[in-house]
Amino acid sequence: MGPPGVGKGTQAIRLQYLVGIRHVSIGDVLRRHIAEGTPLGVVARTYLRKGELVPDDLLTRMIIGQVLSPTRAGGVLLDGFPRTIDQADTLDAALARYGRRIDAVLCLTAPPETLLRRITGRRVCPACLAAYHLDTAPPQVPGACDNCGERLVQRSDDSHRIALHRLAVYTSQTQLLLDRYEQTSTVHRVDGTGSVADVTARLLAALYLAGLGEQDRQPTAWV
Ligand code: AMP
Repeated sequence: MGPPGVGKGTQAIRLQYLVGIRHVSIGDVLRRHIAEGTPLGVVARTYLRKGELVPDDLLTRMIIGQVLSPTRAGGVLLDGFPRTIDQADTLDAALARYGRRIDAVLCLTAPPETLLRRITGRRVCPACLAAYHLDTAPPQVPGACDNCGERLVQRSDDSHRIALHRLAVYTSQTQLLLDRYEQTSTVHRVDGTGSVADVTARLLAALYLAGLGEQDRQPTAWV
């Protein structure tokens, strides 16, 4: 968990390889639906463009079906879900149904000015989805993807105006959920400022402290 721009996606991809857990980014799943023009994508598009959350009924059906289905073995590192109390309730019910549980809630933190700069400086490759940042991870040739040469773009919801709105949505909706997790399960708050490697090291330390660092441990769901 954590506000937009705090580095959830960047860190989750690294943890996926370092700890060996499947990473699912709900934002990426939605962007794929949009790119493919599926019925969910057509509806989700308007919400993403405005920086609003996609309505729960649409989203949870998809997430629960695709992500937590009992036919998929192993643990899941959920990135961007749940974001509301209703989503958390649906997740709890589905986990109980499938005999799974949340092992740890990781929450990355950073001050608002850091978040804004990270969001507005982000650039992505529309072809291979590689991510860059104008300050901290610029491409070798300005404006072009290192992997495939495609012209880099700014996500439409990464503009200054929409970024501010996304931060407000986080404060008004997801912060409440975090408060609830603080009461019911162990939330590990991790400082998301500094270099990508530093933050990864802090996350690994938090996982170790949570008892999830051992190789033979098979967590079922991390949020
Ligand atoms: P992200 O890539 O995690 O920053 O998410 C980008 C956008 O996808 C958000 O601003 C929402 O419009 C949508 N989205 C992602 N996760 C959720 C969720 N759990 N509930 C509703 N909308 C979501």
